[in-house]
Amino acid sequence: MLVLHGAGVGKGIAIGKAFVLSGGTVTVPEYSIPESGQKQEVERFRNALDEARGQLEDIAANIPKDAPTESASFIEAYLLMLKDPLIADQPIDTIRTRKVNAEWALQIHSAGLIKAFDAMEDEYLRSKRTDVEHIVNRIQSNLLNIRHETLGHITSHMEGKVVIAHDLSPADAVLLKNHSVAAFAIDLGGPISHTAILARSLNIPAVVGLHGATRYIAHKETVVVDGKRGVLMAGTDKLTLEAFEERRRYVEAKQLELQALVHKPAVTKDGVAVTLQANIELPEDIGSAAKVNPQGVGLYRTEYLFMNRPQPPRETEQYTAYCRVAKRMKNPVTIRTLDLGADKQVDGGRREGPTNPALGLRAVRLCLKEPALFTPQLRAIFRASAQGPVKMMIPMVSNLDELSQVMDLIEEVKSELRREGKQFNENLPIGGMIEVPAAAVCADLFASRLDFLSIGTNDLIQYTLAIDRVDDEVNYLYDPLHPSILRLVKTTIDAGKHAKIPVTMCGEMAGDPRFTKLLLGFGLRIFSMDPAALLEVKKKILDTNVGIAEKFAAKALDCKGSQELRDLVTALDQT
Ligand code: PEP
Ligand code: MG
Repeated sequence: MLVLHGAGVGKGIAIGKAFVLSGGTVTVPEYSIPESGQKQEVERFRNALDEARGQLEDIAANIPKDAPTESASFIEAYLLMLKDPLIADQPIDTIRTRKVNAEWALQIHSAGLIKAFDAMEDEYLRSKRTDVEHIVNRIQSNLLNIRHETLGHITSHMEGKVVIAHDLSPADAVLLKNHSVAAFAIDLGGPISHTAILARSLNIPAVVGLHGATRYIAHKETVVVDGKRGVLMAGTDKLTLEAFEERRRYVEAKQLELQALVHKPAVTKDGVAVTLQANIELPEDIGSAAKVNPQGVGLYRTEYLFMNRPQPPRETEQYTAYCRVAKRMKNPVTIRTLDLGADKQVDGGRREGPTNPALGLRAVRLCLKEPALFTPQLRAIFRASAQGPVKMMIPMVSNLDELSQVMDLIEEVKSELRREGKQFNENLPIGGMIEVPAAAVCADLFASRLDFLSIGTNDLIQYTLAIDRVDDEVNYLYDPLHPSILRLVKTTIDAGKHAKIPVTMCGEMAGDPRFTKLLLGFGLRIFSMDPAALLEVKKKILDTNVGIAEKFAAKALDCKGSQELRDLVTALDQT
């Protein structure tokens, strides 16, 4: 029996056939072709191009109905690239003139093309470099007879299967939403990477950071995924399988029991009312979120609307998407402005090179640098505010100048909308995410300028503890109970209280029932989380006495060692 350990990100147990996604880059060979073989080599190159065209047309014909509307044009852009002389013709000249094999000829030209994209000023155009890589990789795979699969065209074959991949970008993972995949197991990634967050929102067992999963697991082999323990197993005997099957039924029954809490108000034993909200990624998520009856949306990650497509969505498309969510909710919908960059690239590509993208041009920084990307979104959010209870939230603010620039842009947008006679809520609440340590330390300064604060523990932990959230090598350092995190969370909650503005938590910590009582003890009253976690957190709230939690929370801030702190939190959890 093979047992691989990683970080469990989606709870539950799944037993099913593995669907192993091949991936990674292709090693390109270089060899010379004698004059007599050139005709055949050119033919081989043309066949690989034809094959790529056929594969892409097949993808276009099988785009899932609920994939973002412009996914088809994304494929069309790939098809156009296949006709580009730099890709389709120049390698043929090189095969003839330099007498090299087709793979090497293509490699020479694609390297030049990638370099040209890398040198582009415009961030959005620069990000298109991965499109070139994708198309070149596909042709190379065809030349080398490597099975090449991308999620776009195979999601329909994954129903009921355990998807095993080396890595999945958030752009890939979002395509799996609403497909009945049984479980996820990924070689790379940390528990708060956006891919892990998406996997969790699928409400299926998922494990990341498994290292050798794609190497050791065979396609169609029966595997077991234990999302709670972060384990992937293969080659299990009949008895073990039966034992896991029994546990799977038990976990499912426990989940069903939670359904009884759907319409129960989230009030603690000593009468403190708590607001539970949902985190969503796509407008259609509002349907599944509604099943657990959240009191609004505390985080709508709008960046997913910008992924898997060649162009950013226009204002009208964004307006329609935001209205779709706003009109469904009686309670506030917090639309977060674009948080692209770092691991969330429009095309799912990864950046190479010495820069650290998580510390780079991301979220509000990218938006301020590219008003052409930001302004249509601001307009769309303001216009949607006339249709429902919308709030706006700015991600990754780190200093007040940045906030002033955003506010200036907002004023411009408002004047423009007034001139055009467009309706919007003049008093639309504007909040900021507290997810950079600098902002948490100075939470009082931000609180004095904003209508609400929302603690993004995922990034706050990444930046405070200096652990890249997508790097599985440092998963072991991920610790929401680190004294620095608890202090920053407390500072932010207190700053909100002092300024008399609401403080929400929308990072993964808010959806982890192990921390619910502690956070209530710190004074947190609004939690926003993946809807799949909401009922379990509600159960904890119903079981909390805030008076007792406050005493434990005060002690927690004085704890010196991690073990002492963990013991205290466990003791509080059991009160
Ligand atoms: C966070 O950082 O905690 C957060 C909620 O935002 P995201 O996970 O999208 O970065
Ligand atoms: Mg964040």
